[in-house]
Amino acid sequence: MSITLFNTLGRQKQEFKPIKKNKVGLYTCGPTVYDYAHIGNLRSFVFEDILKRVLQYNGFKTKHVMNITDVGHLVSDSDEGEDKMEKGSRRTGKSAWEIAKFYTMSFKKDLSDLNIISPTVLCKATDHIKEQINLIKKLEKKGFVYQTVDGIYFDTSKLSDYGKLADLQHQELKAGIRVELGGKKHPNDFALWKFSPKHEKRQMEWKSPWGMGFPGWHIECSAMSVKYLGQPFDIHCGGIDHVPVHHTNEIAQSEAANDKPMANYWLHNEFLNLKDAKMSKSGENFITLSSLVEKGYNPLAYRYFLLQAHYRKQVVFSFEALDSAQKGLEHLYSVAGNIDKKTKTASKETKEIFLNFINNDLDTAGALAFVWEKLKEKKLDLKTLLKFDEVFGLKIKENLKEKKTKISDDAEKLVAERNTARQNKDWGKSDELRKKLEGMGYKVEDTKEGTKIS
Ligand code: AMP
Ligand code: ZN
Repeated sequence: MSITLFNTLGRQKQEFKPIKKNKVGLYTCGPTVYDYAHIGNLRSFVFEDILKRVLQYNGFKTKHVMNITDVGHLVSDSDEGEDKMEKGSRRTGKSAWEIAKFYTMSFKKDLSDLNIISPTVLCKATDHIKEQINLIKKLEKKGFVYQTVDGIYFDTSKLSDYGKLADLQHQELKAGIRVELGGKKHPNDFALWKFSPKHEKRQMEWKSPWGMGFPGWHIECSAMSVKYLGQPFDIHCGGIDHVPVHHTNEIAQSEAANDKPMANYWLHNEFLNLKDAKMSKSGENFITLSSLVEKGYNPLAYRYFLLQAHYRKQVVFSFEALDSAQKGLEHLYSVAGNIDKKTKTASKETKEIFLNFINNDLDTAGALAFVWEKLKEKKLDLKTLLKFDEVFGLKIKENLKEKKTKISDDAEKLVAERNTARQNKDWGKSDELRKKLEGMGYKVEDTKEGTKIS
């Protein structure tokens, strides 16, 4: 069965056709490791994980490359301001190298908590300086670069189709808006290499044919994707904010250097927002996965929450919505744990409908609703549900909650003890016994007749 994906390049749903039979080369832009990832960032990585799982479910072998941006991403995406890493270093008092290591570890923990399959290759920008310099040299030879006082820049006027991904050609700069060019020739030109400030030693800097400095933000993805996946490769992903600048510039560099398309399909996820504000890396609006865990949420409840929406729709995060996702997830574990063993294997049609949902531009919301429908009709066997969970990644198998139907003698004793404790108003003991019973897998209710367990 074919998979259709919405390709930002061309803005339409297309049938996915791999370059090599049964194989997919996938590149996804990774985090900038100057701070914790917030749950908005993590939406991107969950979306890419779902894409990978859908491809694998369809029998594709995936080679997934993700970069770690540990140098070169400036405070403003348009090459202005200081390096985010150096800024993070000042904020924390640790070196830029130390914070890169620290936040990379924390990012890896987030991936594992969200049951995101690790990339085949996770590569750091600072480990690929040579490749980036070589790529800039290639662009220089072909006449695509010029030098300003602060760096080497890509001349976007040399490319007839610059901006095709974002359709920039049709978006004239609004009259009256002043564009700060600095030393640049055109507003969209971007840095390939930045010089270290004179008389100042940066924490991260390297020698290059043009002088001591560091790579621009975009060049790392062009250099590493061609190294590990070749060109063109199949699918490139990232958040929607990458379309007008970062991905547009990756395309410009890679295609100018190698005279071939960079990638065939470009997929972008929409943003996760808060009700009244943007998710940001400062203040109250900075919600991390570990802060959700501290509040008692299962990280997979956040995954469940995301599965309920299409990746190309904006989503508003709220704790009420997360509460209901957590309830939904727990209910799923419990329903799954109590599927009658005699349930017949799901019909071919059921499996096809599920596949239709996920292969239709990753419609996880539709697939999840369909699974619930079948569970309610008692027409989904556990084996098939677990197969479907290879796409959802909700760890159903590890969390099956079988209801205890038979109440053990030990439990009966604890119930009697708890009733006495409550009569004596010994609430501490009563709570302790409730926890004990729950730990044994019982649901505990307080009724007029005393403690009831089921
Ligand atoms: P960064 O670590 O800033 O490079 O961002 C990592 C990824 O998160 C990128 O693909 C961004 O496009 C994406 N992203 C940033 N903010 C959000 C958000 N609020 N919702 C969804 N994705 C986001
Ligand atoms: Zn990138």
